[in-house]
Amino acid sequence: METLFTPWRYSYLTSPKTDQPQGCIFCIAAASDAVRDTLTLYRGADAIVMMNRYPYTNGHLMVAPVAHEARLYDSTDQSLRALIRLTADAQRVLSDVYQPHGFNVGMNFGAVAGAGVADHYHLHIVPRWNGDSNFMTVTAQTRLVPEELDVTYDKLVPHFRELAGARGGACGAE
Ligand SMILES: [Zn+2]
Repeated sequence: METLFTPWRYSYLTSPKTDQPQGCIFCIAAASDAVRDTLTLYRGADAIVMMNRYPYTNGHLMVAPVAHEARLYDSTDQSLRALIRLTADAQRVLSDVYQPHGFNVGMNFGAVAGAGVADHYHLHIVPRWNGDSNFMTVTAQTRLVPEELDVTYDKLVPHFRELAGARGGACGAE
């Protein structure tokens, strides 16, 4: 898949490779205080919200349990509850900030199903706009991501800070 106009990719390509996290990105995000580097917006006791580093649209978020688990049925009720609660919160934040026309919310289990990280399950929240999947996506496997990740992060993080205040989690922003 090719991507047009992706300023975020430039900084990715030019950053030292040693800065790239080794290991499970969700476990790293759940444990690390380098919240901006890991694109983490919210850290609760049982689930976290982070931005996708290779977003399909602006505001493409991921919600994951803190526990390193591969399947929904591995999770405790507490984790599952936290996951869907945070998904709802993230959907509301994205609605407020970006006013998308719709959402794709979904999960892939196993590499065969398209999971990039197969051993730590996570839920994708992808805001959608009328016309965003234009002919280029269909015919040329091209996606358009017009906003830099830092810009998205700065737009979203105040909302998650508010959420952290209300729910007692830790917000991504220092
Ligand atoms: Zn993990």
